[in-house]
Amino acid sequence: MSLLEVRNVETFYGAIMALRGVSIDVEEGEIVTILGANGAGKTTLMKTIAGLMDPEKGQITFDGTPITGLEPDRIVQKGLSLVPEGREVFPYLSVEENLRLGAYTRKGGHAEDLALVYSYFPILKERQRQAAGFLSGGQQQMLAIGRGLMARPRLMLLDEPSLGLSPLLTQEIFAIIARLNAEQGVTMLVVEQNAHIALVTAHKGYVLETGRIVMAGDAETLRNSEDIQEFYLGKS
Ligand code: ATP
Repeated sequence: MSLLEVRNVETFYGAIMALRGVSIDVEEGEIVTILGANGAGKTTLMKTIAGLMDPEKGQITFDGTPITGLEPDRIVQKGLSLVPEGREVFPYLSVEENLRLGAYTRKGGHAEDLALVYSYFPILKERQRQAAGFLSGGQQQMLAIGRGLMARPRLMLLDEPSLGLSPLLTQEIFAIIARLNAEQGVTMLVVEQNAHIALVTAHKGYVLETGRIVMAGDAETLRNSEDIQEFYLGKS
């Protein structure tokens, strides 16, 4: 049994079918990436797993329990937290207030969790009293990941963590994702436009095209695939 099982999920925006029967598996301890062009349905898949959109058909199970159709906060309580695309930090709240909001589904233990987040992101500790709106793009991404960690997730969904970041910051963020996976045992499902870094960091991946999974495999197989090289890694 996989930690996350998505089976034949169909999700619509009105009459537009954004997911056309998607199935994926994420095993405990893995980093899994979803690649795909703009509009492929990656964000829709993340929102559907996190309970922000309800699928018309299909099932999603987390740790053996069906979560399809549950409210997003119940899904967070079960140990699944989404770091949304575009970060969505609260600009007028301080860094620390943003982090504390990530723990809203739990009572107690916040000091310990804050210490853990600050150990991975020392810059957030330095800026803990500053309004989040004053952080740079990279720091806001760190804050968004830190906020997700505050829920003590077993599985984190990261939607385009490199969006708008320089190559150097992108590497830094992915290095931290890999450390959180290795050291804290957090399973990661990462949507990413930058196929190169995603396939270097992840254990396995899926390619989504117009709402369908068209390719799946371990990261090395995908890196060596001619189609991936041509369409996602810019080689010919
Ligand atoms: P991107 O990398 O641009 O975020 P994506 O792979 O995450 O792309 P989605 O945002 O999931 O793609 O969109 C999947 C499909 O659903 C696209 O065809 C898109 O036009 C459509 N779509 C997304 N959001 C809406 C919406 N609010 N209303 C109608 N259609 C939408």
